[in-house]
Amino acid sequence: MSKVLVIGCGGVASVAIQKCCQHPDVFSELCIASRTKSKCDALKAKLEGKTATKITTEQVDADDKDQLVALIKKVQPDLVMNIALPYQDLTIMDACLECGVNYLDTANYEPEDITDPAWREVYDRRCKEEGFSAYFDYSWQWAYKKKFEEAGLTALLGTGFDPGVTQAYCAWAQKHLFDEIHTIDILDCNGGDHGYPFATNFNPEINLREVSAPGSYWENGHWVEIPAMSIKREYNFDQVGEKDMYLLHHEEIESLAKNIPGVQRIRFFMTFGQSYLTHMKCLENVGMLSTEPVEFEGHQIVPIQFLKARLPAPAPLGPRTVGKTNIGCIFTGVKDGKEKTAYIYNVCDHQECYREVGSQAISYTTGVPAMIGAMMMLTGKWTKPGVYTVEEFDPDPYMDALNTCGLPWQVQDDPALVD
Ligand code: NDP
Repeated sequence: MSKVLVIGCGGVASVAIQKCCQHPDVFSELCIASRTKSKCDALKAKLEGKTATKITTEQVDADDKDQLVALIKKVQPDLVMNIALPYQDLTIMDACLECGVNYLDTANYEPEDITDPAWREVYDRRCKEEGFSAYFDYSWQWAYKKKFEEAGLTALLGTGFDPGVTQAYCAWAQKHLFDEIHTIDILDCNGGDHGYPFATNFNPEINLREVSAPGSYWENGHWVEIPAMSIKREYNFDQVGEKDMYLLHHEEIESLAKNIPGVQRIRFFMTFGQSYLTHMKCLENVGMLSTEPVEFEGHQIVPIQFLKARLPAPAPLGPRTVGKTNIGCIFTGVKDGKEKTAYIYNVCDHQECYREVGSQAISYTTGVPAMIGAMMMLTGKWTKPGVYTVEEFDPDPYMDALNTCGLPWQVQDDPALVD
């Protein structure tokens, strides 16, 4: 029995909320609060009569800490699930601390305004010290560790699929399959087709910022950065087939490098079709991916935000998307003195997700682990004061819940490796 405040009501949040409502024994009351309250009301109307979970809705601007504090005081939740955007992570963490409430999110902090001089100063220093230039990193949220410890509160960061499930796979492999993990390749394959020439599967602004940035990987104790999309491999994915994939920087590499002892290399690859890449390159070349405001006919506009307004939203892709995703981790290492390899992965079908919750698989594969992370915290399985990522908790109950809540996984011995 618990009360949860969910912030955000977009593609991922609406899946997480529907999955919470499948477990009213854990999620007895939910308050859905977002910038656009009508979306919360529409989801509440869709769910009412189909779940024993009691649902209420509220409007909130999660960039405003005072509004958040007032809302949390009014709702009195046991947990705040932040499924808005990475831009809001710090204001929501601050509000949770002020109100004495546990916190969870699905993506690490990234500023909306990358021209802010105070942020830029820290960013420039981090680029030099760490050697990767992504706009998002864990340092901002790890800096809250002591405050959460002192308040006796838990913050669970990044419980989506990647980050999230991929780290549970790593912790489970470390616990059950290997004495030492030497390399981890995280492969994120979306074999889905939505029929549009160009669209992104989750928030377009966040997605395009991520994939147009330089790639990087962790090797022998430091970051190696490469130009965007400059390392390409092919892989034959179970139930999807042969796909081109490209090395990207990804946030879970940063925490896994700290938390998997002795790991020598961690890489992240994501599949992209040629049409997606051609569109993205063209948009980048004409400045449409820029996050810096430009003057247009007397108005200030941010090109990537204008582009987002022109692209199909992720939600309506649901009914159109056919095919499967295959996301997992390939490990090499040693067990009982012998070299060993293993691949842990999930295959998820876009249309099956749509039939269950009215969303395509990208929102589904993120929303389900957000619900499972919350379930782990609310049932007392994952609570320790401080700020943690998924691989820092016992993976077993989370991995069990993946199997029963819609994202079953499998282990393949001796998989094809990525060179
Ligand atoms: P959407 O754009 O579909 O939804 C975002 C939601 O947040 C919307 O309801 C939006 O409101 C709300 N929101 C935005 N700004 C504010 C604000 N200032 N105050 C209150 N509400 C706000 O995004 P997604 O659902 O695709 O993504 C949600 C999160 O999941 C993101 O952080 C994304 O990075 C993360 N993600 C994580 C993945 C993983 O595997 N770990 C994979 C995919 C996504 P409005 O309706 O008004 O726009």
